[in-house]
Amino acid sequence: TAVANGRNGKVTVEVTIASDKIAAVEVVKHSETAIISEPAFERVPKNIVENQSLQMDAISGATFTRNAIIAATADAIEQAGGDASEWKNREGQHTEAGETIEKTADVIVVGGGGAGLAAAVSAIDQGASVILIEKTSSLGGNTLLSGGVLNAADPEWQAEAPADKGEAEELENWMNMDVESFPEEYQETFKTLQSQIKQYLAGSKDYLFDSTELHIIQTYYYGARTGLDGTKIYGTFELVKNLAENGLPTVNWLAEKGIEWQKNVSEPVGAMWRRGHTPTMPKGQEYTIKLGQSILNSGNEYILETKAKSLIVEDGKVVGVEAEQSNGTKVVLHANKGVILTTGGYGSNTAMVQEYNNYWKNIPDNSKTTNASGSTGDGIIMATAIGADLTGMGFAQMMPVSDTKTGDLFTGLIPRFASSYIFVNKEGRRFVDEGSERDALSKAAFNQTDGVFYMIADADIAEEAKWLTDPEVEVENGRAYKADTLEELAELIKVDPATLVEEMEKYNSYVDSGVDPEFGKASFLQKVDVPPYYATPRSPAIHHTMGGLVIDVDTHVLAKDGSIISGLYAAGEVTGGIHAGNRLGGNAIADIFVNGRIAGANAAKGN
Ligand code: ADP
Repeated sequence: TAVANGRNGKVTVEVTIASDKIAAVEVVKHSETAIISEPAFERVPKNIVENQSLQMDAISGATFTRNAIIAATADAIEQAGGDASEWKNREGQHTEAGETIEKTADVIVVGGGGAGLAAAVSAIDQGASVILIEKTSSLGGNTLLSGGVLNAADPEWQAEAPADKGEAEELENWMNMDVESFPEEYQETFKTLQSQIKQYLAGSKDYLFDSTELHIIQTYYYGARTGLDGTKIYGTFELVKNLAENGLPTVNWLAEKGIEWQKNVSEPVGAMWRRGHTPTMPKGQEYTIKLGQSILNSGNEYILETKAKSLIVEDGKVVGVEAEQSNGTKVVLHANKGVILTTGGYGSNTAMVQEYNNYWKNIPDNSKTTNASGSTGDGIIMATAIGADLTGMGFAQMMPVSDTKTGDLFTGLIPRFASSYIFVNKEGRRFVDEGSERDALSKAAFNQTDGVFYMIADADIAEEAKWLTDPEVEVENGRAYKADTLEELAELIKVDPATLVEEMEKYNSYVDSGVDPEFGKASFLQKVDVPPYYATPRSPAIHHTMGGLVIDVDTHVLAKDGSIISGLYAAGEVTGGIHAGNRLGGNAIADIFVNGRIAGANAAKGN
């Protein structure tokens, strides 16, 4: 038995050696990411046993897991008296580039995250034949790593949830705002919203209010920003309206495709309101598995480890894609009707984030990211090469609550509701309204010692955090701290105990009064007073790149002169114009499915 470090922690491998040969390699324990790591678990043991060698091809997207299984097996070989370096030099599994593959379908989809999967399934719904290509060895992209929460106003469903403290006050704030302060195209929507709020406030106020109009206005308002160079940016009205109005129909469409929604409303960090729909399986797994299966069930295909390199243009129309597989095999795909770019953003391409940045004072070379490895801006590069226009590229979102060591989003204890977040800095002091937008939280975090803070939780919040992680496993793996008293917790995270206790007492008193005089936190879910207590270290990491290709409401990609690039569609993080300078938590999942679905339907018809 041997252990090596993978992507998320220790990978334990059992190796059976008999007569100087490896008879079996079995991974017996790990905490690697579901779906992404599977190709490594399937291929590496098989390759070792078949070839009696530790050499083999790379596995795009699962490199850390692949390497961990190989490293642990090498350790086992040494334990058995063998020479691991000799095993590493033996010729192993290797595939050479084959003949060029050429295929034709009505619709070619590039990128197998949420937007691509939705586009493919929606095109298939319209009777189109579809081929989806994905450059890594598994479907899912950033969608798989996300919390999977989809914002959509569904007032009837939300009215079943009791109102939270602070929410009515927040609605009153909208009532006090001047219509004229909104851009002209948003004013009618804002007036409708004010009349809805007026009616709500005149009633019992005991249930959770929402409306499509509130979703539109919040997406606009919290996304409007000014860049370092003074450029002002806000979401394109038609695109924002499209997002909000198609939210609920898309939730229902996903249910038809087999997504089982949880009963309760949720609110991811920086969502600014409770309107989140959450699948039953953790993170983005359910979308990835069920929509991927839906493509196969229809008799269509997705091809993994196939990277699109350029778009084929004939007579001004996009008619296909040139791609290459990991082993060098060339792939030429012809589209009868259209090509859909769903390649995601560029959060894993730090140089590209730095190149366009117009918002953060400094993006260091060693910045961490929450992103999947495939998010390198390929779709943006391919489309601009044929004249596509870009918007909002200066604005990349930092995820304030990321793992300090890996940038991962979901390690430690992450409550379901942003209202249950309590942040303290290394001095043990709160420093921000934890219910703020993501950029405000990140800016505040960067101003703290080492840019690091702790999310404090008690037993009740830990229970709530189980929607994503097992608190005990997180503590065991060193990603969270646990203690029976706040004083002991403070010792563990090297904070002055008296300060932390005082801070939590203050916080609990604010929950009682419903008013946070220090930072103005508006919605409070619960006190922090049930032992044991937990602390999860966090810092900001590159998360969502809000800029991208300019699209219209039909998801056509537009050229610099505003004309439609015939045959080319785009959806999801590869596009810009919706979230502007700051994306609300839960709006990306809404965006990818709303627009992926529209792109698929339009491309299928060649509209
Ligand atoms: P979205 O949320 O917009 O769907 P994701 O990040 O979830 O974005 O998915 C984008 C997917 O596209 C990822 O799985 C990524 O690996 C894939 N991808 C990126 N570039 C290419 C490319 N050149 N060819 C094929 N797939 C790509």
